[in-house]
Amino acid sequence: MNEPDCLFCKIVAGQIPAERLYEDDSLLAFKDIHPQAPFHALVIPKRHLATLNDFAAGDVSLAGALLLAAQRLAALHGLPGYRVAMNVNKEGGQVVFHAHLHVLGGRPLKGALG
Ligand code: AMP
Ligand code: ZN
Repeated sequence: MNEPDCLFCKIVAGQIPAERLYEDDSLLAFKDIHPQAPFHALVIPKRHLATLNDFAAGDVSLAGALLLAAQRLAALHGLPGYRVAMNVNKEGGQVVFHAHLHVLGGRPLKGALG
């Protein structure tokens, strides 16, 4: 199921340290190592899915759970507003090929998305 050479699979397995913020059976949230805002977390499925394009119809509840985890993180950290983003493929700015939501906040967010 999990990819031995995948950085985020190694974080899920505890082989690489991360500052874990939330975890359940299907997903894990941890702090981004290079935060781009005062609060910057990543929410990932524990199962290796390289990009959003690898989610199938059977992953609808997983996709929803990722979004609700982002909402919960924002509430837990007192963020009045925040941004949720997912880069898809190299052309979309994706660097780590284990799908992840970015959750950013802690200051007013401005700027273009693209
Ligand atoms: P993306 O460009 O959407 O693939 O984003 C990958 C994100 O993973 C970047 O924001 C990196 O700072 C973050 N990242 C890379 N390695 C680690 C790590 N070991 N722990 C936490 N975040 C990481
Ligand atoms: Zn992976």
